[in-house]
Amino acid sequence: MTPTLHHALLRRTWGANRRAVHFEFELANGGAFQFHSGQFISLHIQQGSKHYARAYSIATASRADNRFELCMNITSNDASAWLLGLTAGDQIEFTGPYGIFRLRRPLGRLLAFIATGTGIAPIRAMLQDLDRNHKPRETWLIFGVREESDILYIDEFKDLKRRNPNFHFVPTLSHPGPGWTGLQGHVQEQIQKHLARKEGLQAYVCGKPEMVEDVRRLLRSMGYGDEVVGYEKLE
Ligand SMILES: Cc1cc2nc3c(=O)[nH]c(=O)nc-3n(C[C@H](O)[C@H](O)[C@H](O)COP(=O)(O)OP(=O)(O)OC[C@H]3O[C@@H](n4cnc5c(N)ncnc54)[C@H](O)[C@@H]3O)c2cc1C
Repeated sequence: MTPTLHHALLRRTWGANRRAVHFEFELANGGAFQFHSGQFISLHIQQGSKHYARAYSIATASRADNRFELCMNITSNDASAWLLGLTAGDQIEFTGPYGIFRLRRPLGRLLAFIATGTGIAPIRAMLQDLDRNHKPRETWLIFGVREESDILYIDEFKDLKRRNPNFHFVPTLSHPGPGWTGLQGHVQEQIQKHLARKEGLQAYVCGKPEMVEDVRRLLRSMGYGDEVVGYEKLE
């Protein structure tokens, strides 16, 4: 079946931090954009005579309107440069939604989200979905980035923590500055510390392929079956 081609207009962008940009779009033809929190789109990129597609996770929960958001890692490569060149009102083409990385049913009694960098995008969507549509439950967010200013959506996660005492926000920095008093190191260390012997755990992992594979191996070694670990590799 040919996937449906959508057109969307860029509403605005904002610098989420030095390494990432956040984009807000709306479907050009109005109607609601239906997707499951955690899924991705395939963005069509036209650069001169070159036409190719790149996957980007939808960074927001599904809503009853035509809007959706993306969060892009800034690199010096072509796709990144093309997206950075867009300005408000520009039109994009994409197909989707795609993907099986989404909240599973039944939801686990205890949820753990593990992300590095822009791997937080689909996880932010799932956390918004949980916040809006489900009863609060014990939830861990273990988020690994390089430095403090790289902690994407920090205010939203702090707000969630204020509203749900069972939401544990665990940012950990691989290269902290001198003023950082929080956790240091990789997500793997925090997983070992906080997620040992958690009965009923359901885990969701997203980031670079090597990190995802490491974390899957680690969770396996801690006794968690592959069936309780969902993941997306941002290749
Ligand atoms: C399911 C899924 C979801 C994703 N979600 C996100 C997301 O939410 N946010 C995000 O930031 N990323 C996401 N990604 C990753 C994203 O799709 C790609 O990593 C992104 O397109 C890379 O963009 P880029 O501009 O760095 O590289 P691209 O221009 O796409 O280049 C990709 C690779 O090709 C090489 N390359 C580029 N140009 C050339 C050239 N002229 N000659 C030779 N080699 C070249 C580069 O070195 C690079 O390694 C996702 C990926 C997947 C699979």
